[in-house]
Amino acid sequence: MSVLVIAEHDHQSIKPATLHAVSAAQQLNQNVHVLVAGFNCEAAAQHAARIQGVNQVFLADSQSLAHQLAENISAQVLQLARQYTHVLAASTAFSKNVLPRVAAQLDVAQLSDVIHILTQDTFQRPIYAGNVIATVQSLDRIKVLTVRSTHFPIASVVTSSSSPILPVQAVGDFGKSQFVSCKLAVSDNTDLTSARVVVSGGRGVGSAENFELLNRLASKLNAAVGASRAAVDAGFAPNDWQIGQTGKVVAPDLYFAFGISGAIQHLAGMSNSKVIVAVNKDPEAPIFAVADYGLVADLFEVIPELESKL
Ligand SMILES: Cc1cc2nc3c(=O)[nH]c(=O)nc-3n(C[C@H](O)[C@H](O)[C@H](O)COP(=O)(O)OP(=O)(O)OC[C@H]3O[C@@H](n4cnc5c(N)ncnc54)[C@H](O)[C@@H]3O)c2cc1C
Repeated sequence: MSVLVIAEHDHQSIKPATLHAVSAAQQLNQNVHVLVAGFNCEAAAQHAARIQGVNQVFLADSQSLAHQLAENISAQVLQLARQYTHVLAASTAFSKNVLPRVAAQLDVAQLSDVIHILTQDTFQRPIYAGNVIATVQSLDRIKVLTVRSTHFPIASVVTSSSSPILPVQAVGDFGKSQFVSCKLAVSDNTDLTSARVVVSGGRGVGSAENFELLNRLASKLNAAVGASRAAVDAGFAPNDWQIGQTGKVVAPDLYFAFGISGAIQHLAGMSNSKVIVAVNKDPEAPIFAVADYGLVADLFEVIPELESKL
């Protein structure tokens, strides 16, 4: 038996989150298949075929899949799913939309946000904003799971060889939903979830203008800029910079927390960073409990000094 990974793509190339999902799939079984469902997405299928560890790519190419509507994509997944022991995808908005429909149609329970694969049927996942790690076992014949990309290495993409691409019959339009429009936020911020360095600011930064200090530091460090929810709610930073339980989950090599207290909901999104540097005026701030380097200081003094040394 083998594992089916649902690829997330922009019709041209596979998104990094799927490369992490392939690594997770390999921990379950060496026979990893990938489904690329979209429209005019041959290039994405070719990209998928060059991911190390992928043995087979299925390509479903149809106008009905052009906008990745969950109703149509999940029907496409269901066409293949019953041949597999596991169906998985990276834990993203895309898969949160698609996989529960697949699980429901298969009449199995979904396992969400898996961070460790213990055996073929036993997994670990965070609950209560990451304060408890639950070990869960599924006895379902097909396991449908989403995996946190921050907990699995990125599979490499090779240039030398590629696995076979098998076209499959695309499903028609389900007809219950309709694509209306897509407005993409234009941002010159580096992608937060794949950045190796993240410079994050909280309420302590004080204003949107002051966030410019963090932007400057980030551009020197080739880093992405993140924010706490308090900073986002106060309008200091855009919504898609939010890190935490209700924001993005990141695990960069280096995470700077400036003026962030370290509420559990924020920690849920960044505590797996390899090295955490916290700067806070309050020596009792909970962020210091998870920080590898903590500085009790005023961020408005520390950031310019740090910048001048880079
Ligand atoms: C259901 C739910 C979901 C949530 N989801 C998220 C989430 O996804 N992400 C998230 O971040 N939060 C989330 N929150 C909110 C969370 O509980 C906290 O309110 C929030 O994280 C606090 O943000 P903060 O640390 O920026 O602000 P504060 O807690 O107000 O901390 C500001 C810090 O800045 C320090 N400071 C002030 N001035 C300076 C200075 N000049 N120099 C250095 N330090 C300074 C202060 O000492 C303080 O520690 C959620 C809450 C709930 C209930």
